Amino acid sequence: MIVAHLPAGYIVSTLLFHRFQKYGTSRLTFLRAGLLGSIAPDLDMIYFYGFDHRAHPHHSYLSHFPSVWLLLLTLAILGFQHCRHKKLPLLALIFTCNGTLHMLLDYISTNIYWLAPFVNRPFALFNVPKAYEIWWLNFLLHRSFALEILIVFWAAYLWSKQRMARRY
Ligand SMILES: [Zn+2]
Repeated sequence: MIVAHLPAGYIVSTLLFHRFQKYGTSRLTFLRAGLLGSIAPDLDMIYFYGFDHRAHPHHSYLSHFPSVWLLLLTLAILGFQHCRHKKLPLLALIFTCNGTLHMLLDYISTNIYWLAPFVNRPFALFNVPKAYEIWWLNFLLHRSFALEILIVFWAAYLWSKQRMARRY
């Protein structure tokens, strides 16, 4: 997934906020934590380009292991259930929820190591053929990109709806 992680994070955070509003976190803080979580796994690109010099696919790093995100999500759920003060665990919850969603979205058209660190084998729902030298052009011209466009439009719709609601 190339462009839809942030919009997907916006959709999930916006739709979930009304359920957690009663715990006293502001919409903006909740949204910021959610948006950060939606792109957090891709921060490993800093290591990929800066230190690893593109030697390994960045989806083979710990930061793209679904097991790591599921563990973090479980810890966030437990923290939210058991802590008396819910504000911080709630932010951890939306952060890890969107980080986990990132794994699912990446899985649609790129390799995700679902069984790592136990099995070092990548899985992808669709294999995007390498027809062009420019890597992102292959994704842009693949039919799975239609889903990304759909997510972007959905997020834009929600955003404009929220904006109108706040105006009146
Ligand atoms: Zn990713």
